[in-house]
Amino acid sequence: MIYERSSQLFKEAKKYIPGGVNSPVRAFNAVGGDPIFIKEAKGAYLYDEDGNKLIDYINSWGPMILGHAHEPVINAVIEKTKKGTSFGTPTEIETEIAKLAISMVPNIDKIRMVNSGTEACMSAVRLARGFTGKDKIIKFAGCYHGHSDSFLIQAGSGAVTFGTPNSPGVTKGTAQDTLLAQYNNLLSVEELIASNKNEIACIILEPVAGNMGCIPPQEGFLEGLRKLCDENEILLIFDEVMTGFRLAAGGAQELLGVNADIVTFGKVIGGGLPVGAFAARNEIMDYLAPNGPVYQAGTLSGNPLAMAAGLAMLTELNEKREIFNSINTKTTYLRDGISNVLNRNKIDYTINQIGSMISVHFAKEPVIDFESAALGNNDRFKKFFHGMLDNGVYIAPSSFETWFISEALSTADLDATIQAVDKVTYKNF
Ligand SMILES: *Cc1c(COP(=O)(O)O)cnc(C)c1O
Repeated sequence: MIYERSSQLFKEAKKYIPGGVNSPVRAFNAVGGDPIFIKEAKGAYLYDEDGNKLIDYINSWGPMILGHAHEPVINAVIEKTKKGTSFGTPTEIETEIAKLAISMVPNIDKIRMVNSGTEACMSAVRLARGFTGKDKIIKFAGCYHGHSDSFLIQAGSGAVTFGTPNSPGVTKGTAQDTLLAQYNNLLSVEELIASNKNEIACIILEPVAGNMGCIPPQEGFLEGLRKLCDENEILLIFDEVMTGFRLAAGGAQELLGVNADIVTFGKVIGGGLPVGAFAARNEIMDYLAPNGPVYQAGTLSGNPLAMAAGLAMLTELNEKREIFNSINTKTTYLRDGISNVLNRNKIDYTINQIGSMISVHFAKEPVIDFESAALGNNDRFKKFFHGMLDNGVYIAPSSFETWFISEALSTADLDATIQAVDKVTYKNF
């Protein structure tokens, strides 16, 4: 494949944009080479500036669960745009999407819209601190909750890829209030709670981790956290920015049957426009301004175009619930196909999968936390990434990322992907 124009565009971008990208994970630092510039996308495919057609397994890092340029979403945005793009006043559509989201997700009474997953998680933690009157938070190594200061402590994918697990610019004071536990390890949480008695406001986690590859919670892990939170007056925050409206209509809470106190959203809820949200029961949400003392605001929060895209997306998912089964089935098909090929080609690997999240790790040992995720063979991953790309398959340019399956992928696309895996790993791998 030829990537000439992409490389030229990247050269030009680097002159004016730090690293040539507006979000670091888009650069190919972890795998080498220049990033691909995309011109347009439709359904399961990306079309790049050199005219290459790629089967897309990133799907804008999650939002495009129904594939690119999905008609109902596109049309809703076009129609809304004609009526003005922002008013800074309440609009009816904000209530419509709030009502729909609350009807789909268990255990929430009210929802506040923001502009990104980062904002949602940052605000959720402030709310938890305000509500409990406590300062410290527990997060897990390898979990990502956006780039706000409190979370940039062993933050998974992007941060890990760039070798700066603790970013400069985060003050010691802030870092001290973030306690670090190990994913799938209840004991590590119990110890932190015991040594910080009555100081912990919340535990925040990805109920299915997706930013160190895909790592499902082990049996009893989420239930154990729920119990520890109840016993110690700690709020449990599920960061469902990735899993929300993906693993089920009601997200991980529904799929795994564990209730959180505060839930954050992003990605799918915006249908491809910049949206995040956080939600909880009335008692907690009433702590938020203007009803309560915890301040949180946004000039473009609840923006009409963003709400139109989000409402169209959630309406599709709500009315066609079979979509969740369908993408899960596609993902299982892909997992089995790739497993067969890698077994036949005698490659050491672990595939983690739950619902429509899946990741391939080039290590034999089970991948259950950040430490085991980091054991993967990165040289192999680089080869794998570029090999897949040259065969028309676009996966995330880091071994610490989940693949996102969209409903637009056909069986032929999945077969082509499995064949590409065979070609890439058949010899000299
Ligand atoms: C993507 C992501 C975020 C951050 O969302 P942005 O919209 O990129 O700010 C937070 N949490 C999780 C679990 C994510 O996957």
